[in-house]
Amino acid sequence: MAMTGLEIFKLLPKTNCKDCGKPTCLAFAMALAQKKASLDECPEVSDEAKTALSESAAPPIKKVTVGAGDKALSAGEETVLYRHEEKFYHPTAIAVTVDDADAEADARLEKAKKLNFIRVGLPMELNAVAVTNSSGDAGKFVETAKKADSLGLPLVLISDSADNLKAAGEALADKKPLLAAARDEAGVSALAPLSKEKGLPIVVEAGTIDALADLVEKAKAAGAENIFLSFGKAGPRDAFENLTKLRRLALRKGFRTLGFPIFTDTRVSEDVFEAASAAAISIAKYGGVLVTDLITPEAIYPLMTLRQNIYTDPQKPIQVEPRLYKVGDADENSPLFFTTNFSLTYFSVEGDVEASRIPSWILAVDTEGTSVLTAYSGDKLNEKVVAQAFQKCEVEKHVKHKKLIIPGHVAVMSGKLEEALPGWTILVGPKESSYIPRYIQDMWK
Ligand code: SF4
Repeated sequence: MAMTGLEIFKLLPKTNCKDCGKPTCLAFAMALAQKKASLDECPEVSDEAKTALSESAAPPIKKVTVGAGDKALSAGEETVLYRHEEKFYHPTAIAVTVDDADAEADARLEKAKKLNFIRVGLPMELNAVAVTNSSGDAGKFVETAKKADSLGLPLVLISDSADNLKAAGEALADKKPLLAAARDEAGVSALAPLSKEKGLPIVVEAGTIDALADLVEKAKAAGAENIFLSFGKAGPRDAFENLTKLRRLALRKGFRTLGFPIFTDTRVSEDVFEAASAAAISIAKYGGVLVTDLITPEAIYPLMTLRQNIYTDPQKPIQVEPRLYKVGDADENSPLFFTTNFSLTYFSVEGDVEASRIPSWILAVDTEGTSVLTAYSGDKLNEKVVAQAFQKCEVEKHVKHKKLIIPGHVAVMSGKLEEALPGWTILVGPKESSYIPRYIQDMWK
């Protein structure tokens, strides 16, 4: 079990030297207990204390890396059950499948290459390719894995045959693929030594928590350190239940045996909605790496959107730089909108302004990354804030017509804005940005 702050404090040097960046040893001990500091930040700590503290200092869920180089992905190292308690650190990695018996494997790889998007100014990317082994042939498995490696993404190698996994793992050892899975003692005997020797992550899979804990202990005893946990293919209901239990055991009960990230195989149905539901549950409920047969942009984009929403820091709204943005080839006669610098709001407005095909200006006002109504109700958006943004961005140097279109939700600001911006006419725009194209085409003559 993890130690309390006071228990940790008793093992520290108690010199209050501040070298760790904390004002006192007690403050450092408390931070360590909350997993907000790392033991190596204290240069004075003794070897005995290090040994005693190592368990407490280790994250309750081990960080495991798949792949090598820039695109390597990490999972685990999470410290909370609920996002609002702090934040989640490692977004669920999405791996799309390509099968070694599929004549269309090359075409799938081409599709996989295109599964990269930008949303609210942030990249949403595919993280891995999962190579499956329906052929049952080791040679074909290795060959397909090598082809998949051309995408430059981490590989997940999935086979029912431990021998084939071993062959592919050895052939691609420098790529540090994830081997899935060791499903029994024989599988552990085949894969754990390879994991130890080459530093490859492996999936340990069992049908129940007890069986899983038992198999993980065997894998650890055989030298495997980089482990993912799995219950095998699971539909939405089972996935929800199993994943929640694993996270609770690791975080609430401090059960170190199951303190590893989770691997979810969501290939549960040919029905796209059921498969998407299973994948969505895996993202929402702590999946570290998820494997899916879904590969179309319309299936993957919503999953990536869900992931982006869950894995943003709830205490730090995503913001754009507050400034004057040019959309298209805007000039001094182009319409001028203002909105807030909350990314979701800004990019919604920008997208709809672009859709109007009328070059425009957007003044993103600094509201500390909050949306229009939130900012207005918290007095972060008022006529003074907008007037200051006008001055700072030298709006009048860029725009000559003196007309400002404001969000419909803050129509109530128009009177005070006209006072704060003498000579300007305030036009109330639509409440929803999706109405901007029609509004601007009708109103901006
Ligand atoms: Fe205490 Fe170590 Fe921090 Fe110094 S560096 S204040 S000894 S915890």
